[in-house]
Amino acid sequence: MGDSLEDLPALDGHVRFDDAARARAADDFGHLVRHRPLAVLEPGSVDDVAVMVRYCHERGIPVAPRGQGHATGGQAQAPQGIVIDMGTLCGVEVGDDHAVVEAGALWSGLLRATLRRGRTPPVFTDYLELSVGGTLAAGGVGGAAHRYGAQVDNVTELEVVTGTGERTTCSNTRRADLFDAVLSGLGQCAIITRATVRLLPAPTAVRYYRLLYPSLAALTADQRTVVRDGRFDHVEGQVDAGEPLYQLEVATFAKAPDDAGLLGDLAYERGSERIEDLPYADFLDRLAESVELLESLGEWACPHPWLNVFLPGTATDAFVTSALADLTPADLGLSGVILLYPLRRSLLRTPLLRVPDEELIFLFTLLRTSSPGAADPAAMVAANRAVYELVQAIGGTQYPVGTIPTTPAAWRRHYGPQWPRLAAAKHRYDPAGILTPGHHVFGS
Ligand SMILES: Cc1cc2nc3c(=O)[nH]c(=O)nc-3n(C[C@H](O)[C@H](O)[C@H](O)COP(=O)(O)OP(=O)(O)OC[C@H]3O[C@@H](n4cnc5c(N)ncnc54)[C@H](O)[C@@H]3O)c2cc1C
Repeated sequence: MGDSLEDLPALDGHVRFDDAARARAADDFGHLVRHRPLAVLEPGSVDDVAVMVRYCHERGIPVAPRGQGHATGGQAQAPQGIVIDMGTLCGVEVGDDHAVVEAGALWSGLLRATLRRGRTPPVFTDYLELSVGGTLAAGGVGGAAHRYGAQVDNVTELEVVTGTGERTTCSNTRRADLFDAVLSGLGQCAIITRATVRLLPAPTAVRYYRLLYPSLAALTADQRTVVRDGRFDHVEGQVDAGEPLYQLEVATFAKAPDDAGLLGDLAYERGSERIEDLPYADFLDRLAESVELLESLGEWACPHPWLNVFLPGTATDAFVTSALADLTPADLGLSGVILLYPLRRSLLRTPLLRVPDEELIFLFTLLRTSSPGAADPAAMVAANRAVYELVQAIGGTQYPVGTIPTTPAAWRRHYGPQWPRLAAAKHRYDPAGILTPGHHVFGS
C-alpha cells in the first residue's frame, strides 16, 4: 500500500492510513458501494488540496473530494486512491449580498452564519447537513428552486483546484469554461474549495401549509398553478403510494399571510389542511426530527438505493401513475419516500444540470430504503435502472445523486449537447483523468 504513496509532500493537515478513516471513506449513505482508498487527506488548508492533487496528477492516482458522504452510489469514493475529506475546510465569511464559504461547510452552518446578519441563501435542500461542495457538484434542489433555480444557479464565483493541482478562481466572466464545468459537474474537472453564494434578506417567520388532494392529477394541477403564478415562496409535494395520499407542501414568508387568498382556488380536500407558523430556521430544518426518528429505528443506517429523476411536465402524470401502479411497499421500504417537486426550467441555468426540455418539469424521487423485510438492495438498484430507461424514453433525465448504475455511453447521452464541452474541459483541466472516478463518467 505504502509503495504507491511514497514521497508524500509536506502538508498543513494529515494523511490518514488507519482502517477507521479508510473504511469511512469507503462508505456512504447508500451503503451499497464500498471501495477503500489508499488514504484519506484531512486538509489543513486549501493549499493542501492543491498539493495533494498535484501529487496524484503526477502519479495517476485517483482522487475524490468527500463532503458528508450523503451520495448513495459510491460517488465520493476513490478505489486505490486518495479521498479528500473536505470537512476540515468549513470557514464562512458573510457580507451583505453574498457569503464566501469553504466547500466543506454544511448548509446548516452557512445558514446560522448568514442569519446572524439577517441574510439567507435563496435555496436550501430539504436536509441541511450536506456540504456546500457536495450539493454544488450536483445541483441543490429544494422548495425555493421554483423561484430562484437550484443552489448552483445562485453561485457567482468559485475557487477550485483543477485536476492538475492548479488553484484558481472562476466565474461567468473569468475562466467561464471552468466555472460551467464545475457547477453540477460531479467533481470531474476540479474540486470546489470556496464558493461565493448570493444572499437575500432573511424572512423571520414562515407559514407552512400541508394540503391533501384526492388524486395525483389534482395535486399536479395545483402545483402547476402555484409555480406559474408564484404565490408561494416554497413549493414541494409528496405521494404515499400505499394510502394513496397526495400532499402539497407550500409556504409563504409574507408577514401577514392571507390564507383565503392563497388557498381559496386550490382543489385540496377541505378540512385536510395543516397550517403551522414557524421561525424561518426551524422551517428550513424541519427534517431534523424525522432524521432523529429514522436513526433511532435503524432506518438511517439501512441501504438507500435512491432514484432521483427530472420528468417533463406534460408526461409527469401518466409516468408517475404507471410507476406507482407497479410499486409495492417492499419496493420502497419502511421509511421510503416519494417526492414530486415542480420546477421551472428557465430558472435552471447551469449548463451541466441536465433537465427535460419543457418549461414546467418535476423532480420525481423514489427514496428507497432496504429495511428489514423490504426488497434487497440489488433488486432495488435493478428497479432504478429499469425506471431510468423509461424516464429517458419520455425525455427525462437523472439527477445524479442517486443509485442508478450509469455507463460512460449513457453519461454521453445524459449530457447531450453539453458533452463536447464537458469532455473538452476534462481533457484540459484533468488530463490524467484522476478526479472523482465514482460516477464513471469517463469510464474509470
Ligand atoms: C438525507 C438526504 C437528503 C437530501 N436532500 C436533498 C435535497 O433536498 N435536494 C437535493 O438537491 N439533494 C438532496 N440530497 C442529495 C445531496 O444533495 C447529494 O447527494 C450531495 O452530493 C450530498 O452532499 P455531500 O456533502 O454528502 O456530498 P458527498 O456525498 O460527500 O459527495 C457527493 C459528490 O460530490 C462530490 N464532491 C463533494 N465535495 C466536492 C467538492 N468540494 N468539489 C467537487 N466535488 C465535490 C463528491 O466527490 C461526490 O461525487 C439529499 C441526500 C440525502 C442523503
